[in-house]
Amino acid sequence: MNFIETRGNDGQLPLEVSFSEAILSPMSSFGGIYVPSKLPQLGEFFLREHLDSSYKVLAKDILLAFEIDIATNVIDEALDLYDAFDDSTNPAPLVKVKDDLYVSELYHGPTRAFKDMALQPFGRVLSSIAQSRNKNYLILAATSGDTGPAALETFKNRANVKVACLYPDGGTSDVQRLQMVTENAENLKVIGVHGDFDDTQAALKALLGSESFNVKLKQQNIQLSAANSVNFGRIIFQLIYHIHSYLELVRQEAITLGDKVYLDIPSGNFGNALGGYYAMKMGLPVEKILIASNNNNVLTHLINKGLYDLRESSVVATTSPAMDILKSSNIERILYDLYGAERTKELMLQLDNEKYYQLSTDELKKLQHIFSADFCNDEEGKQYIQTTFATGYLMDPHTATCFKTYETCREKRLKTIIYSTAEWTKFSPVIANALTGEEGADDKEALKSIAKAAKIEIPTEINALFNKEITQKTIIDKADIEKEILAFL
Ligand SMILES: *Cc1c(COP(=O)(O)O)cnc(C)c1O
Repeated sequence: MNFIETRGNDGQLPLEVSFSEAILSPMSSFGGIYVPSKLPQLGEFFLREHLDSSYKVLAKDILLAFEIDIATNVIDEALDLYDAFDDSTNPAPLVKVKDDLYVSELYHGPTRAFKDMALQPFGRVLSSIAQSRNKNYLILAATSGDTGPAALETFKNRANVKVACLYPDGGTSDVQRLQMVTENAENLKVIGVHGDFDDTQAALKALLGSESFNVKLKQQNIQLSAANSVNFGRIIFQLIYHIHSYLELVRQEAITLGDKVYLDIPSGNFGNALGGYYAMKMGLPVEKILIASNNNNVLTHLINKGLYDLRESSVVATTSPAMDILKSSNIERILYDLYGAERTKELMLQLDNEKYYQLSTDELKKLQHIFSADFCNDEEGKQYIQTTFATGYLMDPHTATCFKTYETCREKRLKTIIYSTAEWTKFSPVIANALTGEEGADDKEALKSIAKAAKIEIPTEINALFNKEITQKTIIDKADIEKEILAFL
């Protein structure tokens, strides 16, 4: 299967590219991104056939249905990485929380957040493409917390790929920072930057546009690539777990095959939700996809009013920082799918130039046929963490935002799958505050008090972080990033 461009073709780039091309160079004409030219149809027969399949068997058959240009043995090796998740037979367990509400836990991988679900296999695939082409790639990442650790973990010691990861010094949780600065491999460089996440991201953008930097990369025969969620190599691994969670509901006899369900997804860059949308288009029986946001609620407005508006907004810091995003990159793929390339180009250019766009009434109707949305503020999120804990389920603040959409967006009493995107260990001060009322605890103290309140153990890999040697000590000003990365290369 080939990939085409969300904003049409500029006459310079090829009209279609293979999967591996789309992974290596994710940007397409007019600043657009790549989408599959058509989606495979799985249908009820496929679902029935996989009722008893393990996650890996299901995943492999879905990937094969896409007919991607990746060797079968590489696909196998990529999927084998799920063996290292907590339960090797089921990397994404589905847990009943109450009545018709089930939680699909996507955080059982090495860095304890859902980014591992896609980045683990993606790292293996990208490195193998680089090797087979005998090329060297540099992945530059700016992270506010979860992508950095997951990218470092997956590319650690992999051939033909180097990673330079920038994080805002003081802008991540202790656990997230320790996960990065204790990574020790020759192909990884972690750089703390003075400033906040926006500064870090702006510095990265400036670097990508720097002529001297690009000339030096060329001299050293290094190509740039990206591991962010516009990369389809991540999205393809994100539609699998939606299908898996649905089959889990059937296996648990909560539904019978063919029954519709709600997918309820905590959203930022919309990779997770896009995976759900593609799964639905491929034949998964989904009633609607519920989009949960925090106070950075541009997606709520888009889906409720058809207005994507960045004119007045600036990012506000919330207790669910992985969703503190205003420019949600994967919305572009939805626009393309619903309204076509020409309109997508028009809307995205308007967003760039005028900081907003407004959908027509008909366009909005199409969008609302598939999505409903609401947002959950920090106080409401804290309440959900508290009340849900009282019924015996511990969750993180990102997951908590979905309880709002569960209450306000469902029109039918259908079974609902909430996607849990982080383990409690990654955002412990917020959770400790919700459970015990304590304020200002650092991660270490908060982990202890949650473990005590919930009568559970702190996972060994999290505890070990606090005693691990810090190997990545670079903390610098924005202006010195280019020099630092060139020295690393
Ligand atoms: C990345 C992330 C999200 C947002 O996911 P998107 O695919 O970007 O919408 C939500 N929660 C956590 C914990 C994350 O790390």
